[in-house]
Amino acid sequence: MSIDYQKLRLDGVYQQDKDGNLMLRIKVPAGVISSAQAEAVCDIAERLTNGRLHLTTRGSIELHWLKHEQLPEAFRRLAAVGLSSRGACGGAVRGISCSTTFSPGFAVCQTIARRINRHFAGNPHFEGLPKKFKVGVDSGYESSRHLIQDVGLVHVGHADGRHLFDIWCAGGLGREPQAGFLLEKSVAEERLIPLIEAIVRIYRANTPPPKRLKFLLNQIGEDKFRSMLDEELACRTQPQPQVTVEGPLTEPAAETVEASVFAGEIAAAAFRQLAILARDSAAGFLSLTADQNIVLFLEKGEDSARVKDELARLGLAGDAPEHCTTFRVCPGSHECKMGLSATRDVARQVLEALGADGRELTLAISGCANSCSQPQLADLGIVTARLAKTDSGSREPRFALYRRSGDGLGERVREDLALGELIACIKDLD
Ligand code: SF4
Repeated sequence: MSIDYQKLRLDGVYQQDKDGNLMLRIKVPAGVISSAQAEAVCDIAERLTNGRLHLTTRGSIELHWLKHEQLPEAFRRLAAVGLSSRGACGGAVRGISCSTTFSPGFAVCQTIARRINRHFAGNPHFEGLPKKFKVGVDSGYESSRHLIQDVGLVHVGHADGRHLFDIWCAGGLGREPQAGFLLEKSVAEERLIPLIEAIVRIYRANTPPPKRLKFLLNQIGEDKFRSMLDEELACRTQPQPQVTVEGPLTEPAAETVEASVFAGEIAAAAFRQLAILARDSAAGFLSLTADQNIVLFLEKGEDSARVKDELARLGLAGDAPEHCTTFRVCPGSHECKMGLSATRDVARQVLEALGADGRELTLAISGCANSCSQPQLADLGIVTARLAKTDSGSREPRFALYRRSGDGLGERVREDLALGELIACIKDLD
């Protein structure tokens, strides 16, 4: 049977290689997942894959090495615990991310993220888009993640009992990184979904595949985009403030304990232990962070020292050298068809070269120009740009190095570096 890999994408499935192996990406709005859901993901990983999970920088979970005939069982197991991969790949509104896990405003952001996810996930009006459409909800400007979303929402306060958000639009990384622009300030929460809907409609109707919203903005300009948005909104009824008692899944004022996961790569067995720890000590929820780690919001009276001891026993306490530096890492050629370098191996070598000097830095490496690990938002970002033929006829990766100093995206400062040159260059940086 020939498999139409293109069609699989909307179900959150990418072709991983030419041998029929598949990657399944599971959406986790704002990265908050229950213990029961986490255990179900572990069941799938242990029964159907190599028993490992990859945590993405958007709080999603990827499973690799699945076969086509295993997908129905994986989908059934996800559905049984209210999880879905629908729209996690392909032309759809992707998983709603939140990068401000440690901020007091995380409580509001995760609630809004779930609401947006409920509205767009699997909704045929918002599928079959020219390309991916990314939405992020953050509780402040510190992480700068609002710059890289198609729609980035930044919580800026509240008035009359409603939360207010600044709306940023048309950002994105990839081959042509572009920071989003500020579309509107202090938008009341009930206007968020109609506004995102209108932007998605304009994007779908006016953008050639496989381009993103930033392409349309570059073509028509901000003024034209704003007037199209006004027209689109004018023909819709205005939303009423939403009455809901829905709240966060994690305790807002709780003490947090963080499990460090090198490169977002974790064995299902360890993730299961964390799920059990969360069930017993953190009200049954885990939070997957934008730096690919896992946070537990402890219940009142919980002994954080005991939980940290448990993390140490699992090798996730964060005191091993490879855990001491924030280093976001995409799967690269280890598991991704697009990957040009073995990202985890390169990350280990870079960390070894940096030693203790690296601990104050954030780093990120992507296996290709798609920039899934957000290297342009790290102090030091590495993008694998191409494969070069060596004298012996083999092919080896060439890297570009990005540095970030201000509030915007990092700038490319070096390019076409072989691995040795990259490491020497990083060691020499001030
Ligand atoms: S950056 Fe490239 S290699 Fe890395 S996960 Fe994304 S597509 Fe794959």
